Amino acid sequence: MVATDKEKQFLQIQDVVKDFDGHRAVNHANVDIAKGEIFALLGPSGCGKSTLLRMLAGFETPTSGRILLNGVDLATLPPYERPMNMMFQSYALFPHLTVWENIAFGLRREGQPKDRIAERVEAMLKLVQLGKYAQRKPHQLSGGQQQRVALARSLAKQPQLLLLDEPMGALDKKLREQTQIELVNIIEQVGVTCVMVTHDQEEAMTMATRLAIMSEGRFLQVGAPSEIYETPATRFVADFIGNVNLMDGTLTVDEPDHVVIDCADCRHFVGHGITGTEGMPVTVALRPEKIHISHHQPAEHEFNCAPGKIKELSYFGMFTVYHVVLPSGALIKVSVANTQRHRDESYTWGDEVWVHWSRSAHVVLTQ
Ligand code: ATP
Repeated sequence: MVATDKEKQFLQIQDVVKDFDGHRAVNHANVDIAKGEIFALLGPSGCGKSTLLRMLAGFETPTSGRILLNGVDLATLPPYERPMNMMFQSYALFPHLTVWENIAFGLRREGQPKDRIAERVEAMLKLVQLGKYAQRKPHQLSGGQQQRVALARSLAKQPQLLLLDEPMGALDKKLREQTQIELVNIIEQVGVTCVMVTHDQEEAMTMATRLAIMSEGRFLQVGAPSEIYETPATRFVADFIGNVNLMDGTLTVDEPDHVVIDCADCRHFVGHGITGTEGMPVTVALRPEKIHISHHQPAEHEFNCAPGKIKELSYFGMFTVYHVVLPSGALIKVSVANTQRHRDESYTWGDEVWVHWSRSAHVVLTQ
């Protein structure tokens, strides 16, 4: 089903700025978020993601710009009248109330009829699969179960928008991975639109339909996880998401479709699709898994390859990461899937090798 313009522009963040005593925490943020999306705000500490989330919730007021939900300017609504709910990292469950009472809390405060409350709480317990824990207190639950109660409570009032502030922050790594999938399944079942804040890139990549990479209050790039990983727009984004090798060089345009980048250790043949001027400084970003390693010099060796020596290797089970020192002393990381490795191909510390990659492996960055 094709989304209508209204559905594509369910939540609109329009040129939003937030200043605190002369410090700009959010700097002209712009994005349209579609109905049913899970949208993540991702960036390092202090980049402004919580401030933006708090403006959506109404806990902070934008210095300028507008936020519209379903076409309604949220500036006209105080926090308690906004059709949204926020789930905090700490879950903020009431310790003296049972799971059932925690989920019912918001509905009771609204003065909803008893049978309606019971119906919603039962539906939420079923959704998060905690029916048999209804009479327990939060301290009698595991971290993951507490998180599901907090989610059930946030969804009980059927918000149009769910705000998640570091939703996995309190969970350990293994539980986080499992819970990320559970949470996405629940959010998708309910169909609620979701904005989440996280500084954990894996979490954002796993859970979000799209994400905004923030730095110093600005959106550097907005896109689907694969788009951001495969085609980062800036050096910061390339470096922030996943592992990457960054090589600085200069552009040479021999002919319109013969673009070459000269770096210290190698020449990259980029081909067409790059606009730039002769001698322009650029950065080439290469993901470690897109680089191949071999004992022999590749047949086509003028471009996209370099000799080196294995300095370190780390075995991760599914793949091995090799740190190869290039002639200039620069290190390049190469990740080789162990399933794909040929049995007679083995590399160890000190081996003289060649690293090489196809020209589609490049991302050329100009900023
Ligand atoms: P973290 O991941 O550490 O929570 P963040 O990306 O969520 O960081 P924010 O909390 O939004 O960042 O803060 C952005 C900037 O605004 C920071 O420099 C912070 O010090 C500043 N800031 C946030 N709230 C206030 C406030 N109430 N008064 C003054 N400055 C603030």
